[in-house]
Amino acid sequence: MNELFSNRISSVSPSFIREILKVAVDPSIISFAGGLPNRDLFPVEALQKATNDLFNDSGKDILQYSSTEGYLPLRELIVADYKNKGLDIHVDDILITNGSQQGLDLLGKVLINEGDQVIIEEPGYLGAIQSFEVYAAQFNPVTVHQDGVDINQLEEIVTSSSSKLMYTVPNFQNPAGISYSNENRRAVAKCLSKTKTFLIEDNPYGDLRFAGENKISFKTLLPEQTILLGSFSKTVVPGFRLGWIVAPKPLMDKLVIAKQAGDLHSNYFCQRILHRFLIDNDLQKHIKKIVSVYGKQKQVMEDAIKQYFPKEVTYLNPEGGMFLWVTLPEKLSAMTVFDKAIEQKVAFVPGDPFYINKRDLNTLRLNFSSVDPDVIKEGIQRLGKVLHDLL
Ligand code: PMP
Repeated sequence: MNELFSNRISSVSPSFIREILKVAVDPSIISFAGGLPNRDLFPVEALQKATNDLFNDSGKDILQYSSTEGYLPLRELIVADYKNKGLDIHVDDILITNGSQQGLDLLGKVLINEGDQVIIEEPGYLGAIQSFEVYAAQFNPVTVHQDGVDINQLEEIVTSSSSKLMYTVPNFQNPAGISYSNENRRAVAKCLSKTKTFLIEDNPYGDLRFAGENKISFKTLLPEQTILLGSFSKTVVPGFRLGWIVAPKPLMDKLVIAKQAGDLHSNYFCQRILHRFLIDNDLQKHIKKIVSVYGKQKQVMEDAIKQYFPKEVTYLNPEGGMFLWVTLPEKLSAMTVFDKAIEQKVAFVPGDPFYINKRDLNTLRLNFSSVDPDVIKEGIQRLGKVLHDLL
């Protein structure tokens, strides 16, 4: 049957994470492998109340078809939130999407022809790699350091090739947890300002800061070329699948056509519930609660790493988000560690899928947001033992 599939889909490899994690479904395994928000923080009662109130007040209306761009009052709330952050965004420049993941797909559909070049962080978000692979992009990886991307590499890529897009997660990056410094952001913006390359600032974790200062958005530094992606997945719930794109007018017109062709519009019922939840509740207060819990979970993980990991193993300390990135001594592949760790009933994601065409790397991603503090300690202790045995 394979000959029936399009080239587009045949060339995309199945999710490596899903494949390796098939072994990690055993409930007795402590898993740092997921990328999940903490379900204990989902505002269940408030969402239930918002839904009931909506049915009482608006009944049938909330079950009707709606506009492709998304529910206007919801987009207005997004505009107000940007305003609080010092960004002047017009409501017409916002398109509600099925999570920011759909934003990535729509951008791929609208911008990428087969073989077009895309600059991608390395390590980078594998969901973006997969999205752009569907449109047969050619990747130009640029190395991610503690304070942002490698500017020399970026300069070289920009001088020697012409890329349509650069994809970034500048705040609490997935997978490395790092954030770009303001200096690094300025250097990236300066570098791209000489080109026609669009810069995607994907920012699902930006509000989840438990240390340090907020940084400047690329939208301020490179306004004409920057596309923003946002999401309610990490601040409210991922199950609604609601996010958004902010894009300049000509691009927005094309994105709307692509979205219309794909699904007409995002789930209107959920947009209405989310909107009602946002106007009846204090989202900032809710986010503060999330940040406080994640900050503690991160601290427990860091303390346990210091206590139980061999000294040759290093890590990057995130100021927010959900992930902590670990580097093993060069000779040790995280895949080897993964096999041994599973025997000890602890799982994580080896670095490999976050890189373009590289294998047996010595890096790995640990998620702390979805694991209870006691369990984090126990899991890191087990992992520490595996690492001591291997080194
Ligand atoms: N971008 C990044 C960097 C992510 O980590 C994720 C989810 N893990 C997404 C986008 C997609 O999120 P969603 O579609 O739920 O908004």
